[in-house]
Amino acid sequence: MLYDAHCHYSLLKKKYEGYFIAAVSMDYNSSVETLSLNDKNILKGVAIHPWNAHKEKIESVLPLIDKADFVGEIGLDYKYSEAPKELQIRYFEEFLKKSQDKTVNIHAVNSWNDVLNLLIKHDIRRAIIHWYSGPKELLRDIEGAGYFITINPSVTFQEKHRIIAENASPNIVLTESDGGYMYKGKLLEPTDIPSIIKFLSKIWNEDERYVEKKIEINFRKAFNL
Ligand SMILES: [Zn+2]
Repeated sequence: MLYDAHCHYSLLKKKYEGYFIAAVSMDYNSSVETLSLNDKNILKGVAIHPWNAHKEKIESVLPLIDKADFVGEIGLDYKYSEAPKELQIRYFEEFLKKSQDKTVNIHAVNSWNDVLNLLIKHDIRRAIIHWYSGPKELLRDIEGAGYFITINPSVTFQEKHRIIAENASPNIVLTESDGGYMYKGKLLEPTDIPSIIKFLSKIWNEDERYVEKKIEINFRKAFNL
């Protein structure tokens, strides 16, 4: 079994045997769709993505948290989101306050310090910062807070992400596909995860079986399974 800690499963509509998947949502519609999934190998997340904060009503999604396994993807994006920063922060904090001690699955771009400070301010116990490509200096603080990051298949060619993979402690690393998302003309899918395992096996100087086991242990901790 391989572990996908961040996948837009509702966009893929396909079975992936041998994968345990955390299915994230981005708005009310995808949250409802995610909640309708019925598969023992899928964890269900509900959220409003920071890209959608100006288009979505938070009151419609917050009550869905009751039925979800985790909250995500939520966060702050100071580079690509058209939503005003203040609105993004308001939505992010509202989700954190209502997260009911469930794991939060985070999108952060150019907002890494704010994200980390708000997670700590709201006493969030379990957080996953997905496709982390912020400053490597912050990895120590992320680890100190007990949080995790995900490594994405782009690690094999995206320089800033590779630097993160090389500097992160194996104790905080999860694998993800960000499946359903198109990146550089390619549809990302859970089946891209073996390439991350191979990559980590090289930089950790451990065999692939070890890497898979380590990721499984981290995943179970991150989602409190
Ligand atoms: Zn995503």
